[in-house]
Amino acid sequence: MSVPRYWREIRYRYRLIGERCADCGALFFPRRGACPQCGSKNLEECKLSERGTVASWTVIRNPPRDYGKYSPYVVALVELDDGVRVLSQVVDVEPDEMKTGMRVEATFRRVKEDGSSGLIEYGYKFRPIIG
Ligand code: ZN
Repeated sequence: MSVPRYWREIRYRYRLIGERCADCGALFFPRRGACPQCGSKNLEECKLSERGTVASWTVIRNPPRDYGKYSPYVVALVELDDGVRVLSQVVDVEPDEMKTGMRVEATFRRVKEDGSSGLIEYGYKFRPIIG
């Protein structure tokens, strides 16, 4: 029985799935088809940690027009608990509440809606871990 393509793609949208190099052990994201450390193509899928720490961050005050209703917003470099770094928007936080070292978790939500086709794009973002 084959897995429908739709469900295969949903997996990647709703989970942080990176790759692990079977030769040197490097773990990386996003998936890119060859190991960035040794060039090996002997890779396996690896679900990444969905929690991490803010390594650095910035406030975007002039976003592209499509994202205008979210302006301004925070973009952070998040170091996941397994060591992989991911660049992501941080939601549910005011810019003046942001701190380097803040604990965050991945959340999967709507990024953009295409009014004519009704197509909704989902993606990962991060939000502070409360408590
Ligand atoms: Zn490698």
